[in-house]
Amino acid sequence: MRSKAEFQGKRVLIVGGGDSAVDWALNLLGTAQEITLIHRRPQFRAHEASVKELMKAHEEGRLKVLTPYEVRRIEGETWVRKAVIFQNQTQEEVELEVDAVLILAGYLTKLGPLAGWGLELEKNKIKVDTTMATNLPGVYACGDIVSYPGKLPLIVLGFGEAAIAANHAAAYANPALKVNPGHSSEKSEEKAPA
Ligand SMILES: Cc1cc2nc3c(=O)[nH]c(=O)nc-3n(C[C@H](O)[C@H](O)[C@H](O)COP(=O)(O)OP(=O)(O)OC[C@H]3O[C@@H](n4cnc5c(N)ncnc54)[C@H](O)[C@@H]3O)c2cc1C
Repeated sequence: MRSKAEFQGKRVLIVGGGDSAVDWALNLLGTAQEITLIHRRPQFRAHEASVKELMKAHEEGRLKVLTPYEVRRIEGETWVRKAVIFQNQTQEEVELEVDAVLILAGYLTKLGPLAGWGLELEKNKIKVDTTMATNLPGVYACGDIVSYPGKLPLIVLGFGEAAIAANHAAAYANPALKVNPGHSSEKSEEKAPA
């Protein structure tokens, strides 16, 4: 299921403690009839602000958060009917009548064919320098796939890195071009007219 509308009036169990799980739980408020989020640890990996919002919704009774809980089994024939969850320290089981289960336990990223290109890698990411150049001349990279000291996998950084990579790639492809370090109207102090 990719659409929020498909959860209209449904009882949903969400499993996970990262941003996907917490975002789905918060986004389904007002759509799903019942939302239960379980996580195997009391600590969440999601953004602090989102976790605060989640716990506030829990305290207000708008959804239910259960930790440390895991899924024992899911029952149903043609459709999910019931989930059996358990408290992972006491093993105590709880049965939940549910219409849908969202398992959001994390993503695995793969380099695919890029792994065979001869690119220098670091923890399964492509190593780049400050110009977003890889170890292969003329190959630039940006976004979540790259690695450099201090890298964060955020959209805003991906956009910035794309501009850096594109400028340097253009200058590499056509050495007559200069890498434009800013807006074309910008003048440095020494060149600015008196
Ligand atoms: C659940 C979740 C929530 C997030 N929330 C936030 C947030 O709130 N704020 C924020 O800043 N960031 C957030 N992020 C991170 C953000 O999504 C990423 O930083 C951003 O999408 C990275 O962009 P990208 O273009 O580098 O990679 P991607 O968005 O992953 O795009 C890579 C693209 O390349 C395609 N592709 C892969 N392999 C090949 C191939 N061999 N050939 C051709 N195409 C290929 C993929 O299909 C995909 O379309 C979140 C991430 C997740 C998973």
